[in-house]
Amino acid sequence: MPKNVSITEPLYPKRVQNLSRALADLKLDSVLITHLHNIRYLCGFTGSNGLLLSARGRRTFYTDGRYTEQAREEVRGAKVVIAKGSLTREAAKQIAAAKITRLGYEADRLSVTAFEGLRKALPKSVKLVPTVGVVDQIRMVKDDHELALIKEAVILGAELLTPAIETIRPGIRESEVAAEIEYAARRWGAEGMSFDTIVAAGVRSALPHGRASNALIPKRGFVILDLGVILHGYCSDMTRTVHVGSVSRRSKEIYQAVLEAQEAATAVVAPGVTTGEVDHAARSVLKKAKLDRYFIHSTGHGVGLEIHEQPRIARDQQEVLKPGMVITIEPGVYLPGEGGVRIEDMVVVTERGHQVLTPATKELLEL
Ligand code: ZN
Ligand code: ZN
Repeated sequence: MPKNVSITEPLYPKRVQNLSRALADLKLDSVLITHLHNIRYLCGFTGSNGLLLSARGRRTFYTDGRYTEQAREEVRGAKVVIAKGSLTREAAKQIAAAKITRLGYEADRLSVTAFEGLRKALPKSVKLVPTVGVVDQIRMVKDDHELALIKEAVILGAELLTPAIETIRPGIRESEVAAEIEYAARRWGAEGMSFDTIVAAGVRSALPHGRASNALIPKRGFVILDLGVILHGYCSDMTRTVHVGSVSRRSKEIYQAVLEAQEAATAVVAPGVTTGEVDHAARSVLKKAKLDRYFIHSTGHGVGLEIHEQPRIARDQQEVLKPGMVITIEPGVYLPGEGGVRIEDMVVVTERGHQVLTPATKELLEL
């Protein structure tokens, strides 16, 4: 069972300070935050309907009557307004009253319909300025509180390997393995899974995103297990590939090459290194093994409140790693009609290098 991480210091002043700084770079002093994960990050609200207006350094959070109690308990550093009708119209009233003339909005997080609604609700004098990824950029670097929560999620996620391995045997459905994983996750305190559990056995292991299906586990072959939980709002993400039946020499070589690629990419993770260089480290190991053309996705991604966050660990990416970033390293090799191998850990960038968070073994387990 996960222990509860207690909040010992106010989380939000530093985060909203970072937001103000980022807005100043865009010559903005006001922004409407619509993406729920960004709202949660900036003021703590975990419900499903809300808007956060940050106007000249003051924040107002809007939600509806269902969340009166929850908003009072959770929201910090923002005035809470319970709207009777549309949250957008309620926020628009305040934007008009404050005589704001330039309002940023999350262009990559707002539907066309919601945008039209916002434009109609606002006076003509307000210029809507599109912003992209402003809060996401801040969220890339995790604070100590987030790191503590992420570590808890990663540990819980890794524990799920045990029920998975206990269930896997020839003739069992992939979905049954996924069911055991997810049942254990909930019993051990997870709020949910961070994505649809992947259990891909035999030839299906050649599908990089083979969600658990009703296919049966064959007598012999790889089984890719890619799973993650949400705990205290934070996601974990881990992949292990196991083998049922005796392992051929070829399969062993493929597994070894992926493992070496995964470890080579992990080894270069440090502040100042670009994510493209991390990707390259994995790819060059697989190239030596003549398997690089079967590595058909990127090497990894950021993880936090969401399962896929910035930065992307992919070919030629120029994003520079900074202490506090949490990323996955997950090279894979997929041979169509045969099978595949992927190994994935979560790694945090530290001041001096990195720390691997995922505690599970990477030795090839033969079941
Ligand atoms: Zn994964
Ligand atoms: Zn991943």
